[in-house]
Amino acid sequence: MAYTLDLSAKPDTPSLVNITGLTRQGLVEALIASGVVEARKAKMRATQIWRWVHHYGFTDFDKMTDIAKDQRGPLAEKFTLARPEVVERQISQDGTRKWLIRMAPGIEVETVYIPDVGRSGALCVSSQVGCTLNCSFCHTGTQKLVRNLTAAEIVAQVQIARDDLEEWPSPKEDRKLSNIVFMGMGEPLYNLDSVSDAIDIISDNEGIAISRRRITVSTSGVVPELEALGNRTAAMLAISLHATNDDLRDMLVPLNKKYPLKELMAGIRNYPGISNARRVTFEYVMLKDVNDSPAEARALLGLLKGIPAKINLIPFNPWPGTNYQCSDWKTIERFAAILNKAGYASPIRTPRGRDILAACGQLKSESEKTRASELRKQDRVAPLPYGNLASGL
Ligand code: SAH
Ligand code: SF4
Repeated sequence: MAYTLDLSAKPDTPSLVNITGLTRQGLVEALIASGVVEARKAKMRATQIWRWVHHYGFTDFDKMTDIAKDQRGPLAEKFTLARPEVVERQISQDGTRKWLIRMAPGIEVETVYIPDVGRSGALCVSSQVGCTLNCSFCHTGTQKLVRNLTAAEIVAQVQIARDDLEEWPSPKEDRKLSNIVFMGMGEPLYNLDSVSDAIDIISDNEGIAISRRRITVSTSGVVPELEALGNRTAAMLAISLHATNDDLRDMLVPLNKKYPLKELMAGIRNYPGISNARRVTFEYVMLKDVNDSPAEARALLGLLKGIPAKINLIPFNPWPGTNYQCSDWKTIERFAAILNKAGYASPIRTPRGRDILAACGQLKSESEKTRASELRKQDRVAPLPYGNLASGL
């Protein structure tokens, strides 16, 4: 899909309020404002609806058995619980699943589920359609920003994964989906209001109940928003570092010109709640002959000194038109060995879902290149039953 830059584009104003994106307090207020629920009963109703929506995953008011029948109809006239449409679903040989989700006409994002990551499986969610930040090694960065996703559209990605994994009602133990990472399309800190509301919803104990400690937000380094991220979400922080000096980082992550390494590292040191039990993850993409020398591994150690940190070495995932190459495996291992010796464990991130282009930095590229019909011909897409659901967000 080719997108054009239209910064005036806003989420469609739905005639019905989508409950999926309302925080608990937001739901109470919306119920009162709708006139369907009396103010004195709004908190109780909100608790009931919350459980049906976020614990049971229901999309139908008629199934909410503890809400009087004569109230379910009026609720459905003011509110919607509809999921957005899944237009493509792919499963990799390694079990990674990728969904292309149409939030509204022309508003499509990808979401990826990776089994055996985190406690038992991680969902990589998108926060924007496209990105403003043009990191030179990232394909999403070549796609202009179409718009921010709403909180409802972020939570819907989790709901769709849960639908497909058949994980409703929300289990307390033995979950397939245990972790959430904001590492899909977009820069989450340029959409902090929606990201923060979505995290409040996803982490609520009477709903999807994924603890804030299992939710990681990855940023390319929007320094002025770091403190607000920590204070508002208490999420785990991941930083896309990729270089140890400003000259190189300016080229790889152009945002570095605005917030250079010194400011970035100071911002990270001040991240609320940072401790040995809550370490910052540093992501470092391995680019052949660009940032992969032993001297750079040592410089990385110097930069991270005193910060409770984990390092994720990400083998570069190529995309059509890129001039970068992935470092040789031996080079990556040599780099990792230097970090390991200094006490940082297992830092190489195994590429997952490469056969369906679901790995880091590959998101969206395939859906631009090849349509679902073409992929189906290659037998790589299984149709899902959501196709006929209204895109109600
Ligand atoms: N915009 C945010 C989150 C999304 S990107 C950020 O930049 O942090 C998730 C991770 O994938 C980031 O660390 C990003 O730098 C990395 N990445 C992007 N393109 C990549 C590629 N082609 N190969 C490997 N990792 C890539
Ligand atoms: Fe945007 Fe992150 Fe890609 Fe940079 S790496 S272009 S910030 S999505």
